[in-house]
Amino acid sequence: MPLTGIEIFKLLPKTNCGECGVPTCLAFAMNLAAGKAELSACPHVSDEAKAKLEEASAPPIRPVTIGVGDRALKVGGETVMFRHEKRFDNSPGFAILVTDTMDDSEVDARLEKFKKLEYERVGLILRPELVAVKDESGDASKFESLVNKVKQNSDGGIILMSSNPDVMAAGVKACADRKPLLYGANKDNLDGMAELAKGNSCPVAVKASDLEELTQLTTKLTEGGVNDIVLDSGSRTLRRAFEDQIWIRSAALNKKLRPLGFPTIVFPCEMTDDPMKEALIASVFVAKYGGIIVLSDFQGESLFPLLVERMNIYTDPQRPLATTEGIYEIGGPDENSPVLLTSNFSLTYFIVSGEIEGSKVPSYLLVKDTEGLSVMTAWAAGKFVADVIAPFVKKSGIGDKVKHRKLVIPGYAAAESGGLEEELPDWEVQVGPREGAHIPAYLKSWKP
Ligand code: SF4
Repeated sequence: MPLTGIEIFKLLPKTNCGECGVPTCLAFAMNLAAGKAELSACPHVSDEAKAKLEEASAPPIRPVTIGVGDRALKVGGETVMFRHEKRFDNSPGFAILVTDTMDDSEVDARLEKFKKLEYERVGLILRPELVAVKDESGDASKFESLVNKVKQNSDGGIILMSSNPDVMAAGVKACADRKPLLYGANKDNLDGMAELAKGNSCPVAVKASDLEELTQLTTKLTEGGVNDIVLDSGSRTLRRAFEDQIWIRSAALNKKLRPLGFPTIVFPCEMTDDPMKEALIASVFVAKYGGIIVLSDFQGESLFPLLVERMNIYTDPQRPLATTEGIYEIGGPDENSPVLLTSNFSLTYFIVSGEIEGSKVPSYLLVKDTEGLSVMTAWAAGKFVADVIAPFVKKSGIGDKVKHRKLVIPGYAAAESGGLEEELPDWEVQVGPREGAHIPAYLKSWKP
């Protein structure tokens, strides 16, 4: 729970010197509580008070970043148990496994899949984020050369998996600049792994045999100055691992148990040999509450549904996905191509643009900003009616792109056709299909 203004005030010097930009410490405390000021603005706050305030304002589940640049993955930082309370913020990363005892051809095939398996959906690119590189041989040089290969052939984040600090050191040497996740510190190697994590500013994953041991290990790590931690409760059955995820999230959020206030890593790849079952297990952890989900391999038919599930769960339930307003050219249209109009609800855009593309009739699609509402909802809310559509059509510039003046509006907005013809006297308004599936047949018979 964040501190109230009064609680913060009690920790301030109470001299009312005004150096923070407001006349009194109380005013400053209120601003801090409201997130309108930074603690650093007060030069007189004691170190002890600073530590208390920083601790109180820290998120209950620490965000941890793996990797660098555009492909860096941020996990953790969640503040709620249930999506409907607010939203889930940082979606889990999917990792594909490669090991140093695999044939080169198998490693190459997996790295190729990692690169190729990406999908566009509602204007977003969905793809996996991580390659988990596992030491099975115990041979540091073999491990290092596999890590080098992964680094050269993928720009994703890397998880280094070894329980031997010497082997891990070889892997870290090869890819420290990519800020890999070091998996796994345990009760036997904690000091060695902590040293590597600290020395290379890398996050470290901790594996324990149960939650009590996990708590002890993370406490030791944080006392030693390692703060970027990922948790593995050690469970390898669906039921136990599922219970652990819920327990960890609840302990961090509801009981403020700092030693468990970190994102988690789960291993569906170690829970079954059946690829379909593995995907089902992974889907459970997308919903509850895996931070990193390691899969034995990627198959398009199971990865795609997992990526879509993740996208749906990690969108803001209070805000519909929206596409940018504008003219979308589909299939290379020209001056005689049809002009269709729709709303900017992403799912509507995705369906309509997909049907136009499938029709093979090059077309212009005008997408009107309806604040992410679908055609019918926007129409009912007065956001997809003649007097708001007409100014958009005029300003969009579509008149310069086509010779004809025919505008196809969605069947669900048919009631606006008369009003639109009044507002757009140069245009003939045509009522298109209600359902996206009927667009191809409609377009094939459309004449300029
Ligand atoms: Fe109070 Fe610090 Fe602001 Fe001075 S600078 S008024 S001590 S909060």
